[in-house]
Amino acid sequence: MIDVITTTAYIGLGSNLNERADLIIKALTLLDNAPGVTVGLVSQMIETAPAGGPKRQGDYLNNAAQIHCRISAEQLLFEMQKVEYQLGRVRRKKWGPRTIDLDLLLFGGEIIDTPSLKVPHPLLHERPFVLRPLAEIAPEVVHPVLKKTIRQLLEDVDA
Ligand code: AMP
Repeated sequence: MIDVITTTAYIGLGSNLNERADLIIKALTLLDNAPGVTVGLVSQMIETAPAGGPKRQGDYLNNAAQIHCRISAEQLLFEMQKVEYQLGRVRRKKWGPRTIDLDLLLFGGEIIDTPSLKVPHPLLHERPFVLRPLAEIAPEVVHPVLKKTIRQLLEDVDA
């Protein structure tokens, strides 16, 4: 029998251009169709003011999703980047407006630190707009470096 290992990953999604909610739903649909990827729980979308970057960009919609993954973290990132480009992401300015941004937040309990992939996402614990939707679908999941639950991390940034 072939043993297929499934890892539960969590991703963050954000968009501040065009039809924001539509783009987030399209991104999740495309990702669900990627090989070895099944989208599980999906949080509500929250609206947030842009953090940093050029002035006068529109507010973001952000949410988080659980991903059941039969591929590696590197392969998942590759599939996420394919979705970003399929939806017309154009990289102009750092932290500037973007059609869709997908971040790999957690990949099981793995800690990955390579030039192209850092997991847990290095800014995960600092960003309320990432932690709030994530806490809705994964409140008891433990950050493998900080050893705190997502609920505790959200309480810390809110304090
Ligand atoms: P961004 O501007 O946030 O989309 O940054 C994308 C770049 O960050 C890509 O070149 C990725 O290789 C790199 N990266 C490193 N760690 C992560 C992660 N956990 N999730 C998404 N991108 C990552």
